[in-house]
Amino acid sequence: MIDPSTEGVIARITDGTAEDTDRAVAAAVAARSEWGRLVPKKRSEVLHAIADRLAEHTDALVRLEMANTGKPLAVARDDVDGTIDTFRFMAGTLRATTSMAAGEYAEDHLSLILREPLGVVGVVTPWNYPLLMAAWKIAPILAAGNTLVIKPSEQTPLTTLKFAELVADLLPPGVLNVVPGLGPVVGARLAEHPDVAMIALTGSVGSGRAVARAAADSLKRVHLELGGKAPVVIFEDADLKSAAASLRVAGYWNSGQECGAACRVLVHATVADRFVEELVSEVGELVVGDPRSGEDVEVGPLVSKAHFDRVRGHLDRARSQGARAAIGGDVLDGPGYFVAPTVLVDVAEGADITREEVFGPVITVETFTDEDEAVRRANDVALGLSASVWTESARRSHAVAARLDSGTVWVNAHLVLANEVPWGGFKGSGYGRDLSLYALDDYSRTKHVMHHKGR
Ligand code: NAD
Repeated sequence: MIDPSTEGVIARITDGTAEDTDRAVAAAVAARSEWGRLVPKKRSEVLHAIADRLAEHTDALVRLEMANTGKPLAVARDDVDGTIDTFRFMAGTLRATTSMAAGEYAEDHLSLILREPLGVVGVVTPWNYPLLMAAWKIAPILAAGNTLVIKPSEQTPLTTLKFAELVADLLPPGVLNVVPGLGPVVGARLAEHPDVAMIALTGSVGSGRAVARAAADSLKRVHLELGGKAPVVIFEDADLKSAAASLRVAGYWNSGQECGAACRVLVHATVADRFVEELVSEVGELVVGDPRSGEDVEVGPLVSKAHFDRVRGHLDRARSQGARAAIGGDVLDGPGYFVAPTVLVDVAEGADITREEVFGPVITVETFTDEDEAVRRANDVALGLSASVWTESARRSHAVAARLDSGTVWVNAHLVLANEVPWGGFKGSGYGRDLSLYALDDYSRTKHVMHHKGR
């Protein structure tokens, strides 16, 4: 494993094989009836104990995540706090949702509608929020009574492995299994494995397709949280100053390596210059550097050399297609994979950079002249994870939110998440929901048992 701030090696991890994956699945199969039979209160107590254990080790987890990903302190802390809250939320929620309506719906017959675990769930996670994305899967999967095998990103497995070590004595053996390794080896085996009831992946569109294909033969359930290209639609009546201040966070959080990043601004032509001025002034104040050099660092390096080269390629191509950097626009001298926080203007409609996920500290700015055009262009991408609308008009915010093809729409905000509300995409961004009661539904199956009352 490489520290992306220094390019130094910080750990070596053995890649798991297909055989290792099979052994992990067998362990999860053996553990599933014991775990699945626990009454809700008991499962809830274990999830609370996991949250307590993580809370005791917050600093170690924060430091490890920073070293493996290059995250600034505030981001890594937020990830660990979010992880703990996900376990607490699911620990409470599972007790309120395990039994559903019972009653007489056909004459003389009593119906019981039961929520059951699925069995073994396979999980594949990305590198941008290694611990948090693992928690978004593990907590509801365990809460619903399943066992699991998780494969973390080959680039950032350290906090998932640490998590497993920290909670090992809190769970029966075999309930939680981690197999580090490559996607096409371990991830692909989980997706096709006949004893895995469901595969859940957070990652790129390409990996989502591969997983869905591999899962097709066994007809297992598939849950996909894929890429995003969030439009930020700013109308002429919006509070431009507060929009720019919000985008300073929402566009550059985690160095823009964020599936919901506010990366694609569509601003009304009459206020575009004023907005760009506000945004450039905010972006100019961002503190960039090695996250360990100070608590004030807001933007760290990109995760790897390969990703750094990809982002640089996006910037070069955007420039060759006519875009101009109002600020930033280039990589910074090493060591470390740093890209200057960037705002691109004069971006042509349909330019590659407006359609492809860059996953770096880059916001593009395009202009529009009326509401219909704004909605059409906002929706004119293959992805539909999240979007935001900026306006003082309640009529307009409701109307535009209703027309946007995105799983989440914020109004006068961007990138605000909570465990109570669902997260997931439309179109190429996948299907299934993380967080909230919807995640518990994804990881459960519904059984109807009907009794004749007289026989
Ligand atoms: P990636 O697709 O390269 O890798 C994600 C995971 O999939 C890794 O563990 C990888 O090993 C595995 N994988 C790769 N090929 C596979 C295969 N054939 N079969 C099974 N598994 C395979 O994605 P990444 O670069 O790690 O993460 C960035 C992507 O994740 C971005 O597109 C981002 O938008 C997306 N993401 C989405 C969300 C969301 O909530 N929708 C959250 C975070 C990241």
